Amino acid sequence: MLSLVFKSIIRIWPMSLKTIFLDRDGVINHEVGYLHKIEDFQFINGVFEACLQFQSLNFQIVVISNQSGISRGYYSESDFHKVNNWMLDQFKRQGINILDVFFCPHGPKDGCDCRKPKPGMLFQAKQKHGIDMSRSWMIGDTETDMIAANAAGINDTILVRSGHDIDAKNSSAKYILNSIKEAQSIISH
Ligand SMILES: [Zn+2]
Repeated sequence: MLSLVFKSIIRIWPMSLKTIFLDRDGVINHEVGYLHKIEDFQFINGVFEACLQFQSLNFQIVVISNQSGISRGYYSESDFHKVNNWMLDQFKRQGINILDVFFCPHGPKDGCDCRKPKPGMLFQAKQKHGIDMSRSWMIGDTETDMIAANAAGINDTILVRSGHDIDAKNSSAKYILNSIKEAQSIISH
């Protein structure tokens, strides 16, 4: 009987991952427009301490990023991976494990399902990792992040001012903060 209970718990466990979804440009690093070089990548102040706190609260961290610069021919997918691997390494050095990174290489006219505000990448993440969207958060710097999150069943959304200019009055975000650093005071469990 007891082993049956344990088996059920183990079966349910992967389905209950709570996750903080992060947009990349403007949330993790300063927005420079079609960033594709490591030397242009500057972490926003407080990213590491915020992520360490999310981790201590047993959240997974997943990055969800539109990278239309690939479709536009501004940089290649391998350029993206170089920057991405470097970024993941910097997180690792701070003791932070990023569970996964999803990126959309398409442009606005490609008609894909993954480019935010479409929720495709969030659904991919949910399916791949068994994420419980009702216990998850999205932190982004544009309204498209908020729309994608809501469409994927994430109600807890944070719009940050550290990237693109925001339209606070017309935002559907649950919270509006200066940067990810302040998310530590909002996300407590
Ligand atoms: Zn796409």
